[in-house]
Amino acid sequence: MKNEFLWMSDLTPEQLRVMRDHGTEPPGSSPLNYEKRSGTYLCAGCLTPLFYAEMKYDSGCGWPSFYKVIDGAVETQIDHSHHMVRTEVHCTRCKAHLGHVFPDGPQPTGERFCINGVALKFKTEKS
Ligand SMILES: [Zn+2]
Repeated sequence: MKNEFLWMSDLTPEQLRVMRDHGTEPPGSSPLNYEKRSGTYLCAGCLTPLFYAEMKYDSGCGWPSFYKVIDGAVETQIDHSHHMVRTEVHCTRCKAHLGHVFPDGPQPTGERFCINGVALKFKTEKS
């Protein structure tokens, strides 16, 4: 399974812990929580564009949050870990674990993609 990852860039131990081993970064730890510039959020593993800045919103949950994702960029699966049933979100291309999606986001989607900042790379232009 782990061999399927197509890492294009060298990742830090913290990124590997989150993206490969389905870890979670400490809440409030990511500088991307406060990122308000326009631009594109890429997968830190394979640099595929995942979210545009206009899809981001301030959910107050401690992780960068988005109400929408670029079509086809992520896949989801049911995650039963930690005695909870959650929907896990990973990169379609390299399968890196990104975070979870919850059904309590703002309209029009009603979804909250709660994403680990270490799994994202921010670029201040649209790709
Ligand atoms: Zn990826």
